[in-house]
Amino acid sequence: MADSTWFYENFEHTGSAIGFRTVRKLDEVQSPFQKIEIFETTDFGNLMVIDGAMMVSTRENFFYHEMMSHAAIFTHAAPKDIVIIGGGDCGTLRECLKHAEVETVVQCDIDEQVTRMAEKYFPELCESNNDPRATVMFDDGIAYMAAAEPESIDIIIVDSTDPVGPAEGLFNRAFYETCFKALRPEGLLVQQSESPLALMNLIQDMIAAMADAGFRGFRTLPFPQPCYPTGWWSCTIAAKNGRDLTTFRNDAAAGKTFRTEYYNAGIHHGALLQPELLKRALKQS
Ligand code: SAM
Repeated sequence: MADSTWFYENFEHTGSAIGFRTVRKLDEVQSPFQKIEIFETTDFGNLMVIDGAMMVSTRENFFYHEMMSHAAIFTHAAPKDIVIIGGGDCGTLRECLKHAEVETVVQCDIDEQVTRMAEKYFPELCESNNDPRATVMFDDGIAYMAAAEPESIDIIIVDSTDPVGPAEGLFNRAFYETCFKALRPEGLLVQQSESPLALMNLIQDMIAAMADAGFRGFRTLPFPQPCYPTGWWSCTIAAKNGRDLTTFRNDAAAGKTFRTEYYNAGIHHGALLQPELLKRALKQS
């Protein structure tokens, strides 16, 4: 098949690329923040691309959305109030709302166009947007967290694009300080932390900045993500009170009553068993 029917994201940093065979481009919009494109692929459903970087595909977004939400939610003893910074495709929001004990979820993405595109091309990810516990709003996550009431949030999930453009300010000490202040004492921060294979120094810098902001316990959980550079991704959880992040509500996770495609209690335990390169680089035993 000719190259013109494939969409590739080249990752210069590792001299590698991820590609999907496409049927056609379904849509394209230049928002005030970024260029959003939607492709129909032959085998992976629809694909959202922002500024040339793949964000979600229909067939494999579950790895990311489930690990970004359920791992932290089952780690927290009593998660009631959650804020998602970014996450405009609404997949993380949908996963959070599967937990009956969660009372409120605010999703604050800077770009309304991402959500409008998701509603049209990924309706299944948006199926919980009208849940009475959900607030879908559009603002800069940096400003939102700076204005958040102190000790009002149980879990903050930073589901952002890569640390360039509008997301750059979501990866530094000043932002983490606002998160630290807004979290209740048992609160958790979870952030997508890119590829451990390609960007270990980014994960190290992120954890150092979180520590500078006051966070004391850290755990990086790797998981597969076929459409992101190298196919190996991670999220990093930080605890305000320094609690042990290698334990979670195992019985609740094992007995969960909602459907997932990837996450379960065993997968969570497995993600906590650190690959040697993560142990060495992050000193997380
Ligand atoms: N899972 C994806 C990844 O890791 O590549 C991220 C998906 S999600 C669509 C990322 C979202 O972060 C985008 O919708 C983007 O608009 C949003 N975003 C970027 N910077 C932001 C900011 N400063 N405040 C709020 N949302 C932001």
